Amino acid sequence: MTRKPLRFIDLVAQQEKIKTKVDAAIQRVLAHGAYILGPEVGEFEAALSAFCGAKHSIGCSNGTDALTLCLMAKGIKPGQAVFCPSFTFAATAEVVAMLGATPFFVDIHEDTFNLDPASLKTAIAQAKKDGLSLAGVISVDLFGQPADYAEIEPIVANEGMWLISDAAQGFGGTYRDRKVGTIGAMTATSFFPAKPLGAYGDGGAIFTDDDETDAVLRSLLVHGQGTDKYDNVRIGMNGRLDTLQAAILIEKLKIFPDEIVARNRIAAAYNDGLRDVAVVPAVLDGCTSTWAQYTIRARGKDRGAVLARLKDKGVPTAVYYPKPLHRQTAYKHFPVAGNGLPVSDRVAEDVFSLPMHPYLEADDQGYIIDSVREALAA
Ligand SMILES: *Cc1c(COP(=O)(O)O)cnc(C)c1O
Repeated sequence: MTRKPLRFIDLVAQQEKIKTKVDAAIQRVLAHGAYILGPEVGEFEAALSAFCGAKHSIGCSNGTDALTLCLMAKGIKPGQAVFCPSFTFAATAEVVAMLGATPFFVDIHEDTFNLDPASLKTAIAQAKKDGLSLAGVISVDLFGQPADYAEIEPIVANEGMWLISDAAQGFGGTYRDRKVGTIGAMTATSFFPAKPLGAYGDGGAIFTDDDETDAVLRSLLVHGQGTDKYDNVRIGMNGRLDTLQAAILIEKLKIFPDEIVARNRIAAAYNDGLRDVAVVPAVLDGCTSTWAQYTIRARGKDRGAVLARLKDKGVPTAVYYPKPLHRQTAYKHFPVAGNGLPVSDRVAEDVFSLPMHPYLEADDQGYIIDSVREALAA
């Protein structure tokens, strides 16, 4: 029997499910022609707020710009330190450096891959000694799991800092009784096509409960405009969400709750099938992940060889992330907590991610699990 090729993320299966509705939504936009800030943008924002409980949802151009806009709203400037993990996608720290401030890299928990509060405390003490002014923390919901907010929030509050949540991977998840989007001063997310809630192009959003922050963000993403369109009151950017992407995302958001359920069912099946041969991901008690990635560790095996064997068996894999940011050329001169970030270094050596999407069928997943078991045993 020949098996149809396995996909790492199957956007085709999802599209088949919603194609008629998406086609109709696109046609509506083409008919009214309001390509920039058309009615679908506001409709999508309202649907996002209904979904996650944030008072204000602000659509924007992508996840990186969402983070940039959050930092601009906080008036970030040179000489200020923003603490963030090193084991993350570059955008988390890039936005800090791009605005002239200092990303200060913090280590992660070995079991959740998320920010380690003890390492954060170490970094804060160092930053004070080095004469940096403490601005805030960008936590990351890596691979879809919310950061450990109950541990992080008191540390942030104690120093009079702000917390921005980089939920590019975690939107749709919950932290105990709180939904991602309602945690921290602002939450940024991304609708890059491969994220759990993805557009058919770039897109992003910011969430906040604060009315004034909402007004500032809406001004910033249209060049800092004031109440009079031609009196710009601050330096902003072009950070708008396209009407077409909003129209598509409205349809995608409708099936997102069912997709999160499916993702959790698939993650549980991976856990059961792989627990005894690999380090499977841990989810904090009372929290739900959106499983942006299902990431395991090769546990002392040669990762390159394991991935080569999986490739031979037709199982696509990916490595997020082979190099933590504090080891990368553009970021290695920025400060790190303590004498280095041993956990970030260690996990970067042996993590790999398996196919994860809501439309992964049970027999395909069974084949993947068998293949991973064989590849790790060889
Ligand atoms: C994807 C991602 C971003 C950036 O989102 P874009 O929409 O691609 O700009 C930021 N942070 C993290 C953790 C991400 O995974």
